[in-house]
Order: sequence, then structure tokens, then C-alpha cells
Amino acid sequence: MATEAVTMDKIVSLCRRRGFVFPSSEIYGGLGSTYDYGHYGVLMKNNIRASWFEAMVRDRDDIVAIDSAIILHPRVWEASGHVEGFTDPLVDCRTCKLRFRADKLEEEQCGRKPSKHPGETPECDLTDARQFNLMFETSVGPVRDAGSRAFLRPETAQGIFINFKNVLQLARRRPPFGIAQVGKSFRNEITPGNFLFRVREFEQMEMEYFVPPADAERWYRYWIDERVSWYLRYGLRQSHMRVREHTPDERSHYSQGTSDIEYLYPIGWSELEGVANRGDYDLTRHTEYSTTKLEYVGPDGERYTPFVIEPAVSIERIFVAMLVDAYDEEEVAGRGRTVLRLHPQVAPVVAAVLPLIGRHEDMVAKARGLYEELRRRHVVEYDDNGAIGRRYRRQDEIGTPWAFTIDEQTLEDDTVTVRDRDSLAQERLPMGGVRAWLDDALASDWTTPKAD
Ligand code: ATP
Repeated sequence: MATEAVTMDKIVSLCRRRGFVFPSSEIYGGLGSTYDYGHYGVLMKNNIRASWFEAMVRDRDDIVAIDSAIILHPRVWEASGHVEGFTDPLVDCRTCKLRFRADKLEEEQCGRKPSKHPGETPECDLTDARQFNLMFETSVGPVRDAGSRAFLRPETAQGIFINFKNVLQLARRRPPFGIAQVGKSFRNEITPGNFLFRVREFEQMEMEYFVPPADAERWYRYWIDERVSWYLRYGLRQSHMRVREHTPDERSHYSQGTSDIEYLYPIGWSELEGVANRGDYDLTRHTEYSTTKLEYVGPDGERYTPFVIEPAVSIERIFVAMLVDAYDEEEVAGRGRTVLRLHPQVAPVVAAVLPLIGRHEDMVAKARGLYEELRRRHVVEYDDNGAIGRRYRRQDEIGTPWAFTIDEQTLEDDTVTVRDRDSLAQERLPMGGVRAWLDDALASDWTTPKAD
């Protein structure tokens, strides 16, 4: 029987136990809310990135890729409005000496009484809010002075806008067209937390879609729908997703419309991805600050500054949403098991190859042969260590969708069993057909077996 209570603690503990994610700099006591990815975390992140890139770039004719520098000209961040306005309101508590985001107090814990929010007890003594800029500053070159001041990018989008002209000319595009980028972004968040949900260093995946202004609203709706469909395709439960449109006073200064695709994380409904209609704000500002005209000129002389529709998300928030959605505990034949019911294309390992008896030379030889064949195309694991039940459980916990087991019968008729992670059904396949079977299984549509 499956249980519903997925807590962030359970996800954190599984990630650590199975080597997905570790607290960073642990041997030095850790660096708050900073994480390092282990083997399975890296594999899963690679899969999320590849699936996004496939949907955004590889499967389309109208979107190209870019990879801009992390440290850009400091004027970029003046033009974008980040130097002046990329701030969060910060309050200090004079009693517990902690700092909080004034607009998220309901998500924070009082330093003295963690069951209360800051400001809720008579002892709390909060200062007035002041604006705190979230950009990390650094300096470029050997001399540290005002002229060397630079920033680590807080979003990848600006690296796209400043290359608008290059792409327009060299990739010979005309609106509607998009530019996609994946890369690290840095924000000095006042209160990072909730595992990877809010971190100071994260990998953003953003796409800026340039359209004629009159079509902006239509494309804005189109991208909300596209992105929701992408999540559903990768198995997130519809009941755990919703789209929330920002009210006009909630929107950023540049936005003509913003919707959050929210996921029901263990911390409650929270932003997974944002889709914004940024209007012509960015191209206009960069034209003004750089004096390079960023506009589209058509073959018949028409000219305009395109509007921009932006779907923006971090791999971290997808990673957590997918783990939460996939996590299950159930009892099978009187024994508990933890299983990650991940979409097969997202799971870190696609299949395990297991000799039933790890010390049986012939089984091992057959299993290794199959493993060598499959690993040429897929991430597969070979494991002959311990009882078969324990090996299955280990694979269940990292979300491996299928296990191929080589047993006595394999030695007689060259068939193997394939065990399905979710249904636990087993069937026999001819050894020679395993590769094609796996290719087919991976290419098939998949829906989560979890109840809504
Ligand atoms: P929030 O309100 O949660 O701080 P935001 O509205 O500032 O987020 P955006 O600037 O719209 O976020 O960033 C686009 C996307 O980047 C977000 O939807 C989220 O997926 C991701 N993201 C933003 N900040 C962080 C962070 N600190 N850690 C992990 N992912 C982040």
C-alpha cells in the first residue's frame, strides 16, 4: 500500500543515502544551503537538461541555442535594471539577530520559537524593511577598484538579449523565433532553504522568444500551455500542478503579464517555473545603454522592437518536483520498499543487469555480456553484490525502471527476466531481443502509476 506523506526530509535523506546530493563542503562543517551533486544526481540533472533542450531546441525549427559568459559587462546589469532594482526587502530581528525576507515572513521560522513566524511573538523586534541587492559582486583583473566591479549573472536571460543582433544576422532568423540558454545563475538569497528549492547557485534554463508586439499575448498563452504539457509528458501529476497568474501589482517592472507554473511541493504550492511577457523592455533598454539598435528590420523595410516571451526555470526546482512526485513507500509481501517512480527518460539509470547468483561464473559472464551491449547506448548498471532482493531494492530507490536478471533458465534457453519497477511484473525475453525491447520501452509514452 502506498503512502502519500512525502516530506522534504525524506527526499533529502534519500538523496544523501543514495548519492544524489550531498551538503557541500561537509568536511569543513558545510556551507549553509549549498549542495554538491553525486553520481545519480548528475545523471538525473543531465537527463532533465537534455529533455528541456530537446523540447526547446532540437525538436523545433524556430529556436537556437546560445551559451553566454557568466560575467558580462557591468553596464548590462544597469541596463537590465538589476543594479537598481534586483532587490528583496530585508528585515533584521534585534532579538534573535537573524535576517528575514520581509515579503516571505510566513515561510520563515522565528529564531527563538521555530514554531512561530518572525514577528509573531512579543519578543520579536523587527527593524523596518530595507532593500537588499541579490547580485553577487566580484572584481575583474588584478586591481580591485570601482572600474573592476562586476557581477555574477543572476539570470541567463541578459546574455541572450545582448546577443540578439548576432543571432538575428548570423542565424538569419525573423520573429517569431527564440534563443535558449542553460547555465549557472547566482543570487545572494537572504534566506535560502528547503533543500534545492532556493539556493544561491543554480542552473537556469531560459528561453527568450521574440515576437511581433501584436502577437505577444497569443504567444504568452502558447508558452504557458507548452510548458505545462512538458511537465505532464515527463510524468508530473496534473493534480499537483497549477498555473497562477500574477496580479498587476505583483509583476516585475518589465512584465506585461506573468504566470507561475506552481507545483505542490511539501512546503506547499510554490513556483516551479515562471512564464513572462517581458514586452520590449529589455531590447529597448539595451539599445539605450549600448547605443546599438536592437530591432527587427523586415525585407520590405518594416521595423519594430520585438516583444519577448520568457519561460524560465531552474533544474533544481524541476529536480525536487520530480523527486517529490516520484517518491513512494509501499509494502510488498510484508516488506517495505521505497521506490522512485521516475519517468524512464529522467531516471539516472535506465536498467540494471543482475546475475541471480553473483558467484555463478556462467551467469556472471552472460550478465556482463548483456551489460556491455546495453551500456553502449544507455546508462545501465551491473550489480552482482548481495542477495537479489537487496539489489532490486537498491535499484528501486534510485528509480531504475527495469532490471534484467540472468538465472538458471538463461543458461538453458538464453532468455532473461525483465522486472518492472512499478508493477513488479516479470516477463521473459530472449537475450538477443533485450536491446530492442529497451529502446522501445524508452520511446513509449509513460504515465505515473501513482494515484492523483
Ligand atoms: P522566487 O519568487 O521563488 O524567488 P523568482 O520569481 O525570483 O523566484 P525568477 O526570477 O522568475 O524567480 O526566476 C526564474 C526561475 O528560476 C524560477 O521560476 C525558478 O525555477 C528558478 N529560481 C529562481 N531563484 C532560484 C533559487 N534561488 N534557487 C533555485 N531556483 C531558482
